[in-house]
Amino acid sequence: MSLLEVAGLQAGYETGQVLFGVDLSVEEDEVVSLLGRNGAGKTTTMHAIVGANVPTVLGGEIRFDGTDLRERRNYQISELGLSLVPEGRRCFRDLTVEENLRLAANHAEDPLSIDDVWDQFPELKDMHDRPSKNMSGGEQQMLAIARSLITNPQLILMDEPCEGLAPLIVRRIESIIKDINGKRDVSVLLVEQNVAVAMAVAERHYVIDEGEIVEELSTEQLRKDEALRQEYLGV
Ligand code: ATP
Repeated sequence: MSLLEVAGLQAGYETGQVLFGVDLSVEEDEVVSLLGRNGAGKTTTMHAIVGANVPTVLGGEIRFDGTDLRERRNYQISELGLSLVPEGRRCFRDLTVEENLRLAANHAEDPLSIDDVWDQFPELKDMHDRPSKNMSGGEQQMLAIARSLITNPQLILMDEPCEGLAPLIVRRIESIIKDINGKRDVSVLLVEQNVAVAMAVAERHYVIDEGEIVEELSTEQLRKDEALRQEYLGV
């Protein structure tokens, strides 16, 4: 049994259906990417999985560790060990780094200690009393990942964590994702438009187009398939 199993997922908004049968799975200790162009349905897939209010799920199955997530509410889903790092980071701007982390830990059943987080993110420890609004985009992204990690999840869904970041900080985020997976056995489902980032961290890749999964490939296959990258990813 897969850790996360999505089968035949259909979902949409008042304005219309967006997902027309998404099938994907994530195994324990695996990093998987979900690639696709703007508007292909990546964020909608993530939100449907974690039960964010929008979109509306119209059909299909979403199972996490054997539990039917469609029956669960958003806060219950995080208690099961699933965490979303949303696009745009969404840290509490007036709270300090440490306050953001402690707030997330307070809402978790079995959180990591703050020292565990400082070990993984020494740069955040150095700025523990800084309000998040005074941090760079890359630092805020690290805080968003740390805030997710402190809840001690089994699976983290990350929505374009490297968007808009400079190459050096992108390398740092890549190494954080590898560490979280390698040292802490956390699985990651990574939404990306940046194929290079996906190939650097994930072993398996899904390509979504117009609300359907059109390909599932290994990193090696993705690297070789220039025609596919052109057709579905525009690179
Ligand atoms: P992006 O990289 O631009 O975020 P994406 O692959 O994540 O792309 P989605 O955000 O899932 O794509 O959007 C898929 C489709 O759903 C788009 O046509 C978008 O306009 C529409 N959509 C997204 N969010 C909403 C919403 N809250 N209400 C109505 N339509 C939406």
